[in-house]
Amino acid sequence: MRSRYSAYALGFYDYVLSTYATETRPSLTAQQLRNENRQTQWHRLVVTAASHNSVDFSAYYSEPSAMGSASRTLFLLSEHSRFIQEDGRWRYYDGDIKAESGPIKLGRNEPCFCASGKKFKRCCGARF
Ligand SMILES: [Zn+2]
Repeated sequence: MRSRYSAYALGFYDYVLSTYATETRPSLTAQQLRNENRQTQWHRLVVTAASHNSVDFSAYYSEPSAMGSASRTLFLLSEHSRFIQEDGRWRYYDGDIKAESGPIKLGRNEPCFCASGKKFKRCCGARF
């Protein structure tokens, strides 16, 4: 799960695709996945629960607020992910996206989502 997040964050889309379960792997090329995620920046992963075959996580990412816009919108993706073993390796099977997912708006004085302990306006807020 963490390695898949890192692969998304770093743009290693071959790895993202290779860690899908065979049954649920999207029929996309790594290049198509890269194009779809070109504007996405991943900021933080928080694993909130885990069992032997599932992980609950919250991930923060941002995208341009509008086409060609310099300002960015912050999003939360919260998911309950299921994994299965294939050939002795854990693979992502599927997941349920939780209702809290979607664009989020932090107040300037709220604690920053990156867990720096600083206020949002004094931390990552400068970029949004
Ligand atoms: Zn921050």
